[in-house]
Amino acid sequence: MIVVVKNGTDKQKLQNVVQYLEAQGLKLHISEGVERTIIGLVGATQEQKANLNVESLEGVEKVMPVVTPYKLASREFHPEDTVIQIGDLTIGGNELQVMAGPCAVESREQMLEVAEMVKASGARILRGGAFKPRTSPYSFAGLEEKGLQYMAEAREKTGLKIVSEVMDPRSVELVAEYCDIVQIGARNMQNFNLLREVGKIRKPVLLKRGLSATIEEWIMAAEYILSGGNEQVILCERGIRTFETFTRNTLDLAAVPIIKELTHLPIIVDPSHATGKWNLVQPMARAAIAAGADGLMIEVHPDPLHALSDGPQSLKPHKFEFVMKDLQKMAQAMGKTL
Ligand code: PEP
Ligand code: MN
Repeated sequence: MIVVVKNGTDKQKLQNVVQYLEAQGLKLHISEGVERTIIGLVGATQEQKANLNVESLEGVEKVMPVVTPYKLASREFHPEDTVIQIGDLTIGGNELQVMAGPCAVESREQMLEVAEMVKASGARILRGGAFKPRTSPYSFAGLEEKGLQYMAEAREKTGLKIVSEVMDPRSVELVAEYCDIVQIGARNMQNFNLLREVGKIRKPVLLKRGLSATIEEWIMAAEYILSGGNEQVILCERGIRTFETFTRNTLDLAAVPIIKELTHLPIIVDPSHATGKWNLVQPMARAAIAAGADGLMIEVHPDPLHALSDGPQSLKPHKFEFVMKDLQKMAQAMGKTL
């Protein structure tokens, strides 16, 4: 349920409404927008709702039910776009952000080399997996804390922000300590203990869409994080399982405008994992920007042929440079900067 406060209502009247609602034992989420203020009632019971007499209070324009199972994530609760500030950059506003780097952190040299290269091409966020979710237990599973240290060193040298995946609730503190953005991978989108744990931190969380998750399930996963008090959630569409096998996954680009309509959260697109093929990254990146995405995640490797994971979908640095130049035009057409 949301309480819409009339435009121009003074602070005292707004405070009266808030006090009345709090006195009913309700948990509130207040969104003060340019146009109007909205008070969201989180987790109100049927009985609490039935006993409310808020419409008669001065300043209240209307009271509306929220029929979606997600509340904090919904556009109704929070009509304005969430813009996440990370140091000197923003995600969700007019700047498009590209998170680029190898699938896995493989060595110090690799990380420092690729960081310089993606920075030179215009990326501002470096990606790299230190804890890798692998289908086979015999595959390379990441350098763990050492990998995070290499990323932190690359940040120090280049000024890039860093994003890396966390797989285990016990590692959340560690990954959050090193990273500017903590990533929840597709395979863990419904790992509810992990979601609750990242809900407790105060760092942005990049929540990838589950391999077979519906849009509603994905938003509900975001709701877990938001309900823990962490308001900095960025969604990432990375393709879903369909009957099509030519591409690794099927990129669901309609998810971008749908997420924008249903929620206030930023959304980026990962054309690398979505397609599994490096030559499809550029066209899908273009399309993602045209669909309204707030940024991209792109895998870049200095030597894709010998990459320890996801070589076939990784761009060589010179190709990445070319793609970034090309995407400038698309960004401009959308009124954004890259
Ligand atoms: C990744 O970004 O390295 C990754 C494993 O992606 P996803 O969780 O989307 O498969
Ligand atoms: Mn990968």
